[in-house]
Amino acid sequence: MVYELPSLPYDYSALDPYIDEQTVRIHHDKHHAAYVAGLNAALEKLERARSDNDTALVQHYERLVAFNGAGHVNHALYWQNMGPDAGREPTGDLAARIQRDFGSFEACKIEFTQATVSVEGSGWGLLAWEPMQGRLITLALMNHQNSFMTGATPLLICDAWEHAYYLKYQNRRADYVAAWWGLVNWHDVARRFMATARATAMV
Ligand code: MN
Repeated sequence: MVYELPSLPYDYSALDPYIDEQTVRIHHDKHHAAYVAGLNAALEKLERARSDNDTALVQHYERLVAFNGAGHVNHALYWQNMGPDAGREPTGDLAARIQRDFGSFEACKIEFTQATVSVEGSGWGLLAWEPMQGRLITLALMNHQNSFMTGATPLLICDAWEHAYYLKYQNRRADYVAAWWGLVNWHDVARRFMATARATAMV
């Protein structure tokens, strides 16, 4: 079974003026599509390397699967996390949990923004559920998958690769992240939070 590129849940122009139509079009149709294609190609070659018992090639393609697979998963989450008629602030149980784990929504935003803006090179800022302590944490991912805490469940992700913002914001990553907050679909984040927190019986 091969992986497929999911369609955007809104029009290419729906995120304007925060993220312009051309950026969304290239980002989804070219960049995200390339990770899906790369994942499928790497899986196929990995299967061949396994049957040949070629351990060096197995290692090589395992790495490509992790990179392209995480690239696909992260982008799918990124598109779902945004929306044209997005709420400005979290509500309900998610808002209460943010208050408990960060002190305030404002503090959570600052911490998430720091993680995203300070990524060295290409990467992502992440808000995730950490099941060992049953709390929300922020993470800064390098590339797509490095420095991820296994076991954590991603809830909200911000793409800090230059392709996500360069056409409109050039080198001003902090301006892009500041604008991106206006696009966050908190209903989507809350739905993911409830599903994962319930599964670990911490709500
Ligand atoms: Mn991207």
